Amino acid sequence: MKPIVRFAPSPTGKLHVGNVRTALINWLFVRAFDGGKIILRIDDTDTERSTQAYEDGIKEDLTWLGLTWDSTFNQSKRFDIYDEAADKLRDMGLLYACYETSEELDRQRKLLRVQGKPPVYNRAALDLSDDDKQKLEDEGRKPHWRFKLSGEVVTWIDLVRGEQRIDTSSLSDPVLIRADGSYLYTLPSVVDDIDAEITHVVRGEDHVTNSGAQIEIFRALSDHLPSFGHTPLLVGKDGKSLSKRLGSLSMDQLRDQGLEPMAVTSLLGKIGTSDPVEARQSLKQLIEEFGFSKIGRAPARFDEDELALVNARLLHDTPYADVKDRLDAWGVGGGEDFWTLIRANIEKLNDTASWSTAIFAPMVGQIEDEDADFCKSAADQLPDDISDETWSNWTSALKAETGRKGKSLFMPLRRALTGRNRGPEMGAILKLLGSERARKRLRGEAG
Ligand code: GLU
Repeated sequence: MKPIVRFAPSPTGKLHVGNVRTALINWLFVRAFDGGKIILRIDDTDTERSTQAYEDGIKEDLTWLGLTWDSTFNQSKRFDIYDEAADKLRDMGLLYACYETSEELDRQRKLLRVQGKPPVYNRAALDLSDDDKQKLEDEGRKPHWRFKLSGEVVTWIDLVRGEQRIDTSSLSDPVLIRADGSYLYTLPSVVDDIDAEITHVVRGEDHVTNSGAQIEIFRALSDHLPSFGHTPLLVGKDGKSLSKRLGSLSMDQLRDQGLEPMAVTSLLGKIGTSDPVEARQSLKQLIEEFGFSKIGRAPARFDEDELALVNARLLHDTPYADVKDRLDAWGVGGGEDFWTLIRANIEKLNDTASWSTAIFAPMVGQIEDEDADFCKSAADQLPDDISDETWSNWTSALKAETGRKGKSLFMPLRRALTGRNRGPEMGAILKLLGSERARKRLRGEAG
C-alpha cells in the first residue's frame, strides 16, 4: 500500500497542540510505508483571514518538529478548479441557488426550534422558478449555493471510530459557495482530496458530520473515495476544552519555553492512546509504535506538567551528539563528559548553561564558618591527579580523619565545589573541575 495523506491547516492562526496532533497522526501513519506521501495543503480559501506570516509560521513549526512533507500547495491558487467542480455539480442538479438572507434563515431556525423540530434548512429555494430567481436578483439579492444531500444514510468504517452512520436527512444542505462567491471549506477540500488521490482523510472528530456530506460530494464528482479517520479532540487535564488556551499552546510558545520537539511529539503521539506516555528519542520509534487501533474514543488529555516531565526524561537519555550543535552555539563548553554528567539534572536544555557556569566559570564556593577548616584541610589533601577513584578515596580519608560522615561530610564539599545543595554525582564533578580549581573553591577563593 502507498497511502497518500494530507495535513490541511488554515493559515488564520498559529499551529497549536491540537492541530499538531492531527498532523503528527497523519505523519506517523504514512511514514510507516515505503512510498507513502504526505501533502501539506494550505487551506487559505478565506483570503480575508489567511496571512503569509501564519503560513510561514506553520511551515517553520512543522520543520522544527521534524514533520516533513512531500509536497505543498495553496487552495487560494485553485479557485478555477473549484469553479469547474461547482459547475459540474450544478449540471447534475446537486448545487442550487438560494437567496435567503442570514436573518431570514435565523428566523426559520428559531421557528423550527420552537416547534420542537431540528433546525434543518427547508429547501424552499428548490421550488424557485427562473422568474422567481430573476426577480430576487433584480432586487439586488445574490445567490449562495447549497449542495443537495441525498437524504439517505451515509456509512463508513472509520479508522478510529469504527462504523459511522450519518443520516443526511437530519442535516441542512451545506452551503458550498457564499453569496460573495467565496468558497467554504467543504467543496475545495473534496476536490483537492480527489485530485491528490488522497487515500486516507485523517482529522479531528469535529469533522465527522462534514464527512457525511463530503462523502456524497466525493461520490458525485468522482469514483475516488478515501478512507476516513476522526480522532477525538484534545482537552486540558481538567477535562475542559482547550479552545480558550490554545493561544498559549502554540508551537512557537513551546519552542520559546525551551521544550524539545521530540518531547512535544512524544506526548502528542501517545496521549489518548493505549500506549503509556513516555519520552521517545526519535520519530522513527513513534512511527513503529503507531496504530489507529490504539487511539481511544475518549478525548485526549493534554497536560503541560506532563509535557515538562516528558521533556526532562527525554533529555536524561539524550546522547551528546544530539545536543552538541546547540550547546556549541550557546557557548556551553564541557563536551561530552559534562553533558553525560548533568543531563539527569536538567529539565530543559538551557538549564545546561547554569550548570556550565557552576562548574567552569570562576566561582567562590559556599562555605559555612563551621566548615571552613574542614574544607581547607580537604583542599590540602586533594591529590593533583584526579581519577575515577579520587572522590571515594579522598572522602574516605576525610571521614576517617574528622569523624564526619553522611551529610556533614558530603554537603560542605558539594556546596564548596558547586555552590549548590544538589546536583550530579560529585566524583565526576571533581574530575571536571580538576584539582587546582577544586582547591581554590575549597579554600574560599575564586576558582
Ligand atoms: N482546514 C481544515 C481544518 O483545519 C481541514 C480539515 C480537514 O483536514 O479536512 O479544520
